[in-house]
Amino acid sequence: MVSAIFWEIVAFAVFGALSFAFHDRQDQPLIRRDFILDAIYFLAGLLVYTQFLGWLFAHVSPPAAVRIVGRWPLWVQAVVLLVVYDGLQYGLHRWFHGAWFWPYHAVHHSAEEIDILTGNRNHPLNFLLGVGAPTALLLLVGFSPEAFAVLAPINFVMACLVHANLNWTYGPFRYVISSPMFHRWHHAIVAGSQSRNYAPNFPVWDLMFGSFYMPVGEKPLAYGAPEVPGHFIGQLIHPFRRSNA
Ligand SMILES: [Zn+2]
Ligand SMILES: [Zn+2]
Repeated sequence: MVSAIFWEIVAFAVFGALSFAFHDRQDQPLIRRDFILDAIYFLAGLLVYTQFLGWLFAHVSPPAAVRIVGRWPLWVQAVVLLVVYDGLQYGLHRWFHGAWFWPYHAVHHSAEEIDILTGNRNHPLNFLLGVGAPTALLLLVGFSPEAFAVLAPINFVMACLVHANLNWTYGPFRYVISSPMFHRWHHAIVAGSQSRNYAPNFPVWDLMFGSFYMPVGEKPLAYGAPEVPGHFIGQLIHPFRRSNA
């Protein structure tokens, strides 16, 4: 847990420093208005989700008949897992934007200023279905916990990178790896643009299924989900309020 806090602080410092030179939002302070809120999400997630994932890795294993994947070399498992996990999360993310799940997922979209801490702002049910379910499924299929461990630093860096206050698009590589601007368009309040750019790491999923959106020379004007309350408890109960039914 101490190392997770250490790396979160390192990422905050590194991407914060980069944002002074390559910002998307020049007027966004390093310690922004929702800094405490997103820090609470980070610490709560660290306390609860790491225990939950640890339990999954210790207790979910494939039936004997499907232990083939577990015999692959670790690097093969890790590469396949990286791609398959991304594809599963792409599909789930599209579903999160449907009417039924949106009140839960809107919590993540409620940030009006976005930086690396925003990646932690997820409703518990969003985490359970967006991370817990695909992890359990892929453990059942036979991927080893060690393969997930290889991926963990990659997914951490990517989650920080795509939420950083950076104007990077990667130019021609915008179709290959998710960039900060790729994900900023996903968070943007623009008619239709929150229905785009669902892929965590590889925009190829969006290209394949017609949801890629990065207009050249344009920047999103505003981020957020105005219907979501601005405080932690309000966000936890937001999906259960009568007005969302
Ligand atoms: Zn989304
Ligand atoms: Zn996001």
